[in-house]
Amino acid sequence: MPVADPTAPHGGPVVYASALTTRFRSLTTRDGVLIRGEAGWGEFSPFADYDDAASVSWLRAAREAADVGFPAPLRDRVPVNVTIPAVGPDRAAEMVRASGGCTTAKVKVAEPGQSVDEEIARVAAVREALGPDGHVRIDANGAWDLETARDRLAVLDRAAGGLQYAEQPVPTVEDLAALRRSVDVPIAADESVRRAEDPLRVARMEAADLLVLKVQPLGGVRACLEFAERAGLPVVVSSALESSVGIAAGVALAAALPEGTFRGAPLAAGLATSHLLRTDVTSAPLLPVDGHLEVRPITPDAVTPAPDDVAATWIARLDRVSALAGSIAGDRPIATGAQ
Ligand SMILES: [Mg+2]
Repeated sequence: MPVADPTAPHGGPVVYASALTTRFRSLTTRDGVLIRGEAGWGEFSPFADYDDAASVSWLRAAREAADVGFPAPLRDRVPVNVTIPAVGPDRAAEMVRASGGCTTAKVKVAEPGQSVDEEIARVAAVREALGPDGHVRIDANGAWDLETARDRLAVLDRAAGGLQYAEQPVPTVEDLAALRRSVDVPIAADESVRRAEDPLRVARMEAADLLVLKVQPLGGVRACLEFAERAGLPVVVSSALESSVGIAAGVALAAALPEGTFRGAPLAAGLATSHLLRTDVTSAPLLPVDGHLEVRPITPDAVTPAPDDVAATWIARLDRVSALAGSIAGDRPIATGAQ
């Protein structure tokens, strides 16, 4: 299938592909579709484990970006965290220093095969590199049971000289709620927030102090703003490992949220991920400067086209999900369906 020229007046959809600089969710490449509309470019890139029905929200997010654009920003740049994978302490400190000025770090923990001592060393090294004014958060991706989580939060909170929060330390909403009642470290829900109804359930059960929201799985910037308001909890915007086109939607959300702080400190977004793509889709990728990403539109002027078979699969998926979204939305335009 020929790949459209994204700079042509009515070019697109464009299927991009990029190798990843680090293995992520067992992926070594990332690909997706960029679509163009009156308002700009949107990204449709549900992971392979999302079926067509679950991908409708991702399409709504892409169509919102392309067809109607984003709500007015309240700030012109947003703070972002550097993400530290399960590396040794020296490498962790080096990543903080090379982060583009990030003053918040998210440290991955609960890595299979690693000891608690390795986690302590990593968290302590990150604190040391950030200095006393930085913020350290950890992400366990739901890997601990309740008892382990209680133990590790105490130990790692000490090693970090105070954790800003712990992201999804345990897998279920029920366990998050139980854990939150018995520890002082604030709790953020990530994996427990994947569908439209989830943020409200997490809030109703008082299972978290913060919500991690991702624009595509939740159906767009406006849908996320609505969830945040109804949930009544502070929000950490994160990427779904998108190209800079998709990340721009996350930046738009972070810039439109009325409350950008947690306990008096700026709440850095998890949007500094475009460096994980070896070939981003633009010559001006969204990379941190002074610990912030700029609010700006992204034009995909440097797309590495996906191989023909991958592109054909994406176009077929886009067609199927568009048809499905149209049948769900009825007469409503899809871009406003989430409002
Ligand atoms: Mg997470």
